[in-house]
Amino acid sequence: MADYPPELSAEEQNFIFAELKDWSIAHGLAVRPAPSFIQQSQDPSSVLATTAPVTIFPSLFPRRCFEDGLSIQKAYNELYSAIARDEEWLQGIVEELVDVDDFVAKLWQTHLAVKKEGYVQDISLGLFRSDYMVHEDPSQTDPLPGLKQVEFNTIASSFGGLSSQVSALHRYLFALGAYPSSTSSLVKADALRQSQSASRLANGLAAGHRAYGESKKGLPLCVLFVVQDPERNVFDQRHLEYALLEENDVRSFRVPFGKVLAYTKLDGDRNLIYNPPHSPSTSYEVTTIYYRAGYSPDDYVKEEDWEARLHLEKSRAIKCPSVLTQLAGCKKVQQVLATPHSPHLKRFLPDDEVASQLLKTFAPIYPLDKSDAGLEAKKLATDSSSAVRYVLKPQREGGGNNIYRKAIPPFLQKLPETQWPAYILMEMIEPPPLKNVIIRNGVVERGGVICELGVYGVCLWRGGSRQGEKGEILENFEAGYLLRTKGDQSEEGGVAAGFGAVDSCCLV
Ligand code: ADP
Ligand code: MG
Ligand code: MG
Repeated sequence: MADYPPELSAEEQNFIFAELKDWSIAHGLAVRPAPSFIQQSQDPSSVLATTAPVTIFPSLFPRRCFEDGLSIQKAYNELYSAIARDEEWLQGIVEELVDVDDFVAKLWQTHLAVKKEGYVQDISLGLFRSDYMVHEDPSQTDPLPGLKQVEFNTIASSFGGLSSQVSALHRYLFALGAYPSSTSSLVKADALRQSQSASRLANGLAAGHRAYGESKKGLPLCVLFVVQDPERNVFDQRHLEYALLEENDVRSFRVPFGKVLAYTKLDGDRNLIYNPPHSPSTSYEVTTIYYRAGYSPDDYVKEEDWEARLHLEKSRAIKCPSVLTQLAGCKKVQQVLATPHSPHLKRFLPDDEVASQLLKTFAPIYPLDKSDAGLEAKKLATDSSSAVRYVLKPQREGGGNNIYRKAIPPFLQKLPETQWPAYILMEMIEPPPLKNVIIRNGVVERGGVICELGVYGVCLWRGGSRQGEKGEILENFEAGYLLRTKGDQSEEGGVAAGFGAVDSCCLV
């Protein structure tokens, strides 16, 4: 396995490259070009697309880890839906953050404002993604590699659309015989895993749509994608929209977050009515709001954007996710669950067997507060010899926000200690070394890589936004996977943030 993937001759590489770039565009494995990559005068109407960053080969991934990740997804869905339903517990988490994190504070205020008027929709939808790396710990008695969770995403979990396409691309290249024959003992039909993420995530949105029921006014129904503008990763989202219509017969529309107040209104029953700019006299009733924006402070440029969020949250549409579900995805929640000896997991997952399976995937995470664990973390993070084994994370999503290893002590030194509790300190997961070839912006890069497995999950539940309600899970299923691969010189792995590539699993 050490010589996987093999070196390619110039002719082999040219052939694969030619196949890959045409297949990618033909199948929407694509992104809009970066503004820096193309001059506006060359593409005044923004018609151009380019191949998404991908790996040439599917990366080797331990079969047992892959299967573990997929099989525990339903338990993770259950865990995070239970957290989202437990307002009192979440309040305790948020209270530790409100003074040090304005964004979390604003989200919480939005929840309180809706609560004051009364929630009119008690169904919530989560399209989740649990991210992992393979971890080998030679000091353990069980040297088999295991999965350790990097993070759990509860909002705008992306790449489900492109992931289905990249696993199909690798299967195409294999079926064509494009890979050198020396790979045949590894790259086999039953080792290449097709991700069903586009289709299954669309099924999740369709489940929300159906659970909403009919329009009492007899209006046509739709799902609303609330998006960033501009959005380079638009085709990833388009795959979900097309699967929603083609496989589930559900219509959806895209609205930039900044245009929500212009194109939607609430009627007297707080139904969310969408009047599309292309046909303002047509009214659709929105069943499900799918947020692909609103997860980052950068999305809230002006006070009106918070009004827009409140407006959507107050509506009778099902939110994917609700504010409380978004807050459940805070890194702080993951830390509270994973701090050594934490009692919290049991509160949400009473079944010991299930809880212990999830527990095995937790890497140690510490708070940076005045608790015992916090004081231990302070020692670890401020000493440069121990800090190199850690990553420091704020309560942010979307990549590019973390502080790694030796950068941690000087970072903390500059940060007033009152601000430290906004961060969590997590042990770095050290995956086994692998190699691959990444194609990004037409440039071929070969070298050591790090792979991150994401497992998608769909959960639809009732209850929780009203006090004292326990709630009921209506749908819970695993929804395919994502493999993201980055050069081993980069700490970050975000594809959209420009660090990684989409990949698929070759199980070994
Ligand atoms: P975000 O919500 O911004 O995606 P993540 O927690 O996923 O934040 O961190 C971003 C990236 O940093 C990950 O994709 C991964 O490459 C790297 N990373 C984060 N935590 C760890 C960790 N504990 N061990 C190794 N790499 C990590
Ligand atoms: Mg995230
Ligand atoms: Mg991440």
